[in-house]
Amino acid sequence: AAKAAGRRTYRFFDPAMEAEANHRREIECDLRNAPAEGQFEIHYQPLVDLLSDEVTGCEALLRWRHPVRGMVSPADFIPVAEETGLIEEIGQWVLRTACAEAATWPAHVRIAVNVSPIQFKSETLSLKVAAALAETGLDPRRLELEITEAVLIADDDAALAALNQLRVLGVRIALDDFGTGYSSLQYLQRFPFDKIKIDRSFVKEVVRNSSSASIIRAVVSIAADRDMVTTAEGVETLQQRETVQNLGCTQMQGYLFSAARPAHEIRGLLAASAAAVENPA
Ligand code: C2E
Ligand code: MG
Ligand code: MG
Ligand code: MG
Repeated sequence: AAKAAGRRTYRFFDPAMEAEANHRREIECDLRNAPAEGQFEIHYQPLVDLLSDEVTGCEALLRWRHPVRGMVSPADFIPVAEETGLIEEIGQWVLRTACAEAATWPAHVRIAVNVSPIQFKSETLSLKVAAALAETGLDPRRLELEITEAVLIADDDAALAALNQLRVLGVRIALDDFGTGYSSLQYLQRFPFDKIKIDRSFVKEVVRNSSSASIIRAVVSIAADRDMVTTAEGVETLQQRETVQNLGCTQMQGYLFSAARPAHEIRGLLAASAAAVENPA
């Protein structure tokens, strides 16, 4: 009887909602098989020093090559991976693969890896990071973990303890997407970050919008006091680059220099830029 009632209720479902739920179930099911099927790959996006124009690091960005859907955006599958707990396994794969790749790069180039709040809350994160470093032989100082504000709000003391546990390993911590969430300038003072990444939404507005510029200026001034790098995300135009540089940002990332590219292309790019530094034209 309960089943019949369930079916009757089901008929009143909004078809759009039903389609959405089915889509999600499919993604979830395919996501479970993706690692074993070798459908994940990592693309790397250069991080560029604004003074020297040198590539000083790259961010690892996960790509899912779905056999039917083609490339699925992380925005579509990371939330599903987080809700199902699959993010633990996927995140560990990203960490290991990205560290192994970075170990082949010139020694001054760092690797930045995104860490989901779910991974961050796990008590074993620092053990897993230590294991990835040991397995790949990567110098801990070359690894940067990107976390978002979401991990800071729930429990200050626990977040601070977790951050310190990671820093003991010698890895660096970046605050990603600053300005999108519950952003507070106090976070920058309370937590020991090595880098603040100013969200693309501010960079997009900065040329025309003086309040975006004021916010960037405030972040830069706190960051400079505490020896933190400030990265402007999503720099697409020369004008944006010049504006964020004039505001004091020290690093940029964005399509103006390069989108995220497959590992072999990045290897070529890093080799070419190392050669340019050794033999200036
Ligand atoms: P994010 O960490 O803030 O990464 C930057 C995003 O901005 C990337 O999108 C990148 O391709 C995009 N981007 C960079 N420069 C530009 C630009 O000039 N213009 C525009 N319009 N976009 C630019 P992507 O690769 O789609 O990743 C989206 C988000 O998915 C990431 O945002 C991150 O939060 C998450 N993500 C990606 N890979 C991983 C991963 O391995 N683990 C976890 N937990 N999250 C990941
Ligand atoms: Mg990031
Ligand atoms: Mg970001
Ligand atoms: Mg962002």
